[in-house]
Amino acid sequence: MPVETNNNKRKMKPPKIRQIGGSLLILLTFVFLLNAIVPSFFGPKLPQVPYSDFIGQVQAGKVDRAVVGGDRIEYSIKTQNADGKPAEQVFVTTPVALDLDLPKILRDNNVEFGAPPPNENGWISTLLSWVAPPLIFFGIWGFLLNRQGGGPAALTVGKSKARIYSEGSTGVKFLDVAGVDEAKAELEEIVDFLKSADKYTRLGAKIPKGVLVVGPPGTGKTLLAKAIAGEASVPFFSISGSEFIELFVGVGAARVRDLFEQAKQQAPCIVFIDELDALGKSRGGAGGFVGGNDEREQTLNQLLTEMDGFDANTGVIIIAATNRPEVLDPALRRPGRFDRQVVVDRPDKIGREAILKVHARNVKLAEDVDLGTIAIRTPGFAGADLANLVNEAALLAARQNRQAVIMADFNEAIERVVAGLEKRSRVLNETEKKTVAYHEVGHAIIGALMPGAGKVEKISVVPRGVGALGYTIQMPEEDRFLMIEDEIRGRIATLLGGRSAEETVFGKVSTGASDDIQKATDLAERYVTVYGMSDELGPVAFEKVQQQFIEGYGNPRRSVSPKVAEEIDREVKQIVDNAHHIALSILQENRDLLEQTAEELLQKEILEGAALREHLNQAKAPAELNEWLRTGKLSQDKPLMQTLLV
Ligand code: ADP
Ligand code: MG
Ligand code: ZN
Repeated sequence: MPVETNNNKRKMKPPKIRQIGGSLLILLTFVFLLNAIVPSFFGPKLPQVPYSDFIGQVQAGKVDRAVVGGDRIEYSIKTQNADGKPAEQVFVTTPVALDLDLPKILRDNNVEFGAPPPNENGWISTLLSWVAPPLIFFGIWGFLLNRQGGGPAALTVGKSKARIYSEGSTGVKFLDVAGVDEAKAELEEIVDFLKSADKYTRLGAKIPKGVLVVGPPGTGKTLLAKAIAGEASVPFFSISGSEFIELFVGVGAARVRDLFEQAKQQAPCIVFIDELDALGKSRGGAGGFVGGNDEREQTLNQLLTEMDGFDANTGVIIIAATNRPEVLDPALRRPGRFDRQVVVDRPDKIGREAILKVHARNVKLAEDVDLGTIAIRTPGFAGADLANLVNEAALLAARQNRQAVIMADFNEAIERVVAGLEKRSRVLNETEKKTVAYHEVGHAIIGALMPGAGKVEKISVVPRGVGALGYTIQMPEEDRFLMIEDEIRGRIATLLGGRSAEETVFGKVSTGASDDIQKATDLAERYVTVYGMSDELGPVAFEKVQQQFIEGYGNPRRSVSPKVAEEIDREVKQIVDNAHHIALSILQENRDLLEQTAEELLQKEILEGAALREHLNQAKAPAELNEWLRTGKLSQDKPLMQTLLV
């Protein structure tokens, strides 16, 4: 599946530090320049005289007045203008330090003298000399931190980093969210609570404090929250659960406090906590001993306290999103906290079509594009996958210099999402190519005979994606929400079909089937331990669901006696072996078809549509297939075919 482009991350916290650091630097520079420039700028430049000359002039009685400072003496000399009027000329000299005779000399010569008036700028300089160095230091620090691309926002420790979206500033409206109508209706109600709170409070109703939006990744939880910001005319605080957890212990809790303080001041408003599971994982439990959990626990406790602390009708509504509700601390879901749950599920066919429409709004589509058909071909795709699909198709069309996006672009895009990029550069040698061809045809023939798995649409020996040297695409004809036991068996046999074909034709197997074997075994294990479909072991859940199984700690399997563990293993092996047996048996029955189809695939590299169907329609089911599909068992008189070992 494509990696979700998290475009809300781009709207990062505002560059507060840079602003402070930057403007501080500018201000300081300005002040210093001013200080340096001012005296020489405003005062006239006075002629400088050597100290000895000054003393001489005093003793000659020429000096009228003097202002004696510690490192500067300003004095005036009486002169006459050309027209005979008395005038004054001012000079400066630098006194020799510790000339203690100076006052006496001045007095003796009748010079009017005094100290300079206290400097008006003095206090500023004093203050600056104390304050400036740390300010400069912080300014530079902040500047450097920012240059490192945010850095560990050390200057904003304890501040919530919630971004505030004002009304409409996210640019997302409910119209942009499709295919999740129930969730939308529920959240529209929230917007209404905020817009006309008194309609509800008048009747004594309490507005819900917290809403938990639950759903798999990419189904539009964040998008919905943004749409609320776009629709509600109230401030909107958005923060991600992981942002609470920081470098320093205690910071998370402080952040929560700060966030709620801000929110209460701005009520009515919405606080959106994305990825709540980062914060709200069950406390204690198996993982309780790890240091990092302490911090999370504190933060979570603070969140619970804050949620209890404010009155329901203050108008602060907290919306949280998670894709793992099962790991959340039960305390979070108590009434008065996140007691409302809105489920956002993967869209159904109609939903997918609606989402495709939303994303195709700005894309030029050719006549032949049928979004309904694309919706049928994309079961299991979430909103984010569909958005990505439309974009991929548009990119492909652009690369071909087309005027509009055609259906073939969409088909290729679907394949890219399902199987990865084509890698024609990966050159296989003849043996490898032949092995891959038989392998894929093996999948296809068995897939065609199995119930529920959908049509085999395409087989290819063009390498794709990370590991696939060839691939078989099987498309379900409709959305499926359950798998019946015979379909699981069929799926396991189909997965083993590739390897079985290699065995049948070459008498030896390649490493190419490892992924198939992995998947087949997983499915067989779930058949026994999760779905409880085994006759021998019965409907007992041997696998713990995630609620009891805290990631990374403890055993996912319920504690079972060694005897039961052995039985599970035997049962799993039995299921896989039987499926393998059936796969081999089908391929032997259809040996000619296998050869023909593989030869044609080798020539054409890709087989699809009618050409492929023509081949696969000829596939014949062996006698024991139906019995096996029904019971999972093979009649005992037929011995299990010897499995080759690599
Ligand atoms: P989540 O938060 O559930 O993981 P997002 O809200 O981040 O998923 O979805 C990612 C992107 O996928 C969105 O920005 C949007 O383009 C697209 N998308 C997801 N769900 C929908 C939807 N229901 N309708 C329209 N677009 C969607
Ligand atoms: Mg999200
Ligand atoms: Zn395979």
